[in-house]
Amino acid sequence: MKTNNLGYPRIGNNRELKKASELYWAGKITADELLEVGKNIRAANWQLQAKAGIDLIPSNDFSFYDQVLDLTLTLGVIPNRYSEIAKANSPLDLYFAMARGSQKEGQDVVAMEMTKWFDTNYHYIVPEFTKNQKFELFSTKIIKEFVESKKLGITTKPVLIGPVTYLLLGKEKEADFHRIDLIEKLLPVYFEILTALQNEGAEYIQLDEPFLALNLTDKERNAITYVYNEINKKFPALKIILANYFDCFGENLETVLALPVHTLHLDLVRCSSQLDDILDSGKLAGNVNLSLGVVDGRNIWKNDFKKSLATIKKATDALGKDRILIAPSCSLIHSPCDLDLETNEATLTPEIKQWLAFAKQKIEEIVLLQNFALDEISLVDSVSFQQNTIANKNRKTSKLIHNEGVKNRVASITTGDDQRENTFAKRRKSQIDALNLPLFPTTTIGSFPQTAEIRSWRAKFKSGQLTQQQYDDLLQKETEETIRFQEETGIDVLVHGEFERNDMVEYFGEQLDGFTFTKNGWVQSYGSRCVKPPVIYGDVSRPTPMTVKWAEFAQSLTPKWVKGMLTGPVTILQWSFVRNDQPHSETCTQIALAIRDEVVDLEKAGIKIIQIDEPAIREGLPLRKEEWANYLDWAIKAFRISASGVKDDTQIHTHMCYSEFNDIIQNIADMDADVITIECSRSQMELLDVFADFKYPNEIGPGVYDIHSPRVPSRNEMVQLLEKASAVVPVDKLWVNPDCGLKTRHWDETKKALIEMVAAAQQMRVAV
Ligand code: GLN
Ligand code: ZN
Repeated sequence: MKTNNLGYPRIGNNRELKKASELYWAGKITADELLEVGKNIRAANWQLQAKAGIDLIPSNDFSFYDQVLDLTLTLGVIPNRYSEIAKANSPLDLYFAMARGSQKEGQDVVAMEMTKWFDTNYHYIVPEFTKNQKFELFSTKIIKEFVESKKLGITTKPVLIGPVTYLLLGKEKEADFHRIDLIEKLLPVYFEILTALQNEGAEYIQLDEPFLALNLTDKERNAITYVYNEINKKFPALKIILANYFDCFGENLETVLALPVHTLHLDLVRCSSQLDDILDSGKLAGNVNLSLGVVDGRNIWKNDFKKSLATIKKATDALGKDRILIAPSCSLIHSPCDLDLETNEATLTPEIKQWLAFAKQKIEEIVLLQNFALDEISLVDSVSFQQNTIANKNRKTSKLIHNEGVKNRVASITTGDDQRENTFAKRRKSQIDALNLPLFPTTTIGSFPQTAEIRSWRAKFKSGQLTQQQYDDLLQKETEETIRFQEETGIDVLVHGEFERNDMVEYFGEQLDGFTFTKNGWVQSYGSRCVKPPVIYGDVSRPTPMTVKWAEFAQSLTPKWVKGMLTGPVTILQWSFVRNDQPHSETCTQIALAIRDEVVDLEKAGIKIIQIDEPAIREGLPLRKEEWANYLDWAIKAFRISASGVKDDTQIHTHMCYSEFNDIIQNIADMDADVITIECSRSQMELLDVFADFKYPNEIGPGVYDIHSPRVPSRNEMVQLLEKASAVVPVDKLWVNPDCGLKTRHWDETKKALIEMVAAAQQMRVAV
């Protein structure tokens, strides 16, 4: 029985890689200095795992930006627009230019596209393929890192994304071909890599094919069969570990069981039934091993040893101990580095801390599980086992977690609770009378520029250099100026600007019971960017109003409507570490009730328009289509619960970025928000077509300008977009707003852009 790790966090315990990369990009350290930081992180990670007792330690899991981009460079899939840069620069600078774009000395090349890695919050750089795409071994990173580990006395297991998943992660940049058709041209370069690794002494190779967790076409499935048979023919001595994670194999299982690989890795956290499915099928070949992903690589909870050992026993009883490997469910890059660094007992109490495990602790868990399963440590004598049992028991019964009031409230939700009193048509009449807005009403999505100054106030307040009163005064002044600016500009529905908020989820988490925060629980999101998600550990409730004070204050400054601004339950859930001791639907419903209370309190305070942001609804969609209906059912319901406590004439808005809603437009309509604002400008209103074709019944604000760029749009451009929108949506249902919040923009461009936006709306009013 071996222990098998799939990947270790590469950001460094104190985000050393982030800091070094950003210094390098700013020209403040040399390439060699950056490379040295990378080398030290790799060495530390390998040594930590070796010392802990991991048998199969991954290499090539390190990356200066993204593992998909690493492979793109390895395979020489370099889009034409970088050819000049490739000639004039080092491979490292070419790599960063592909990741981030490059704008210097007359050179101006855009970055490659970035998108979400399956259903995680990690983002990868999307490979671009042409019809006659060529592949060549362009970078030997994977081989160099293997040799580097050997020099440290550690023979690692090189990890790379499998050829089928690599192609499927990419995009065709020309018409008339499908990227999977490139498989035969791609495979020889994989052979070259495998040959080189074998020559250097590699014994195990991990090939990640997480697309096996998705619904594949026959052609894609056949490509899997083809690839792994070819690899086996050419490299009979290499031990290939085929890794799938994030969901079940589903209908791909038959195909997978027929593959001539050394080991299959299973994500038993996301798909606990998979082991039974495989054992019961009787189709696992006699020489194939199973790597059991029993330790959750994507969440922060301590493993339940009793439960994991029962799973492991089932496998060893059926197959024998020699054919079993113990592993995390997926790469640990989705976990924070080390719980030992959490020393602030004020935010993370010892009681909660004992329930958690970060990457380093997960490594220790994997080794302990192996020891227990091999009877090398007797369970009764083991302090670790006893501690684990106590921590898990404590978590089941802790007063910190369980709040009967909250549980009862969820249990007593009735059908009416997720419905407004009357239909949209009826509510609309009341809202028209109550709000008295012009045609093409203008508004913004909520945040106004979060300047360095504002962030410095917050830092000073947190460190005690500003009193609450001083901090509030500064924020009030900023809010007032923002209200005045909106009044002067002639915006119809104002916002307070969200200056008091660090982050749209953290701000609410900090005020809700059942949430806690880490000091150093960073996880890579993309490139040098890391996020520190809140931890939802217990039943969620709202002790006191969270936003009413600011909304009331802003409304008191102006006779115009100020929109109350909230983050919705699904987004709060998606962007946090979520408890694993109850279904996500249950936690989401608890958050929905807390937000509902806030909505009702805002209404009581005289706020007539309330926006509940739900940018994460779409990204929460499960990987497998057969699970969509269940997810959408509880997610949409949670939004409706949060929005349905108010009277007809209170107008509920929602906002969503990334507005590709083709598959779920019915569900978006079922949310029944009075107004939805969406991101549309980059696609030239194309994203609005789904709403138009569906005859979306409620009001809609398609974004008329791109807030991701400092560029100030012209009035004309926005008029044109609004004309396009008017052609497909009834004009009395259209709103005028930017694509998203203005938090990352500067005041200068924000002011200019909004003045033009209001002028565009006025021009539209005159025209109709
Ligand atoms: N109200 C938020 C803001 O304006 C919405 C952000 C988002 O959609 N991601 O910042
Ligand atoms: Zn947005």
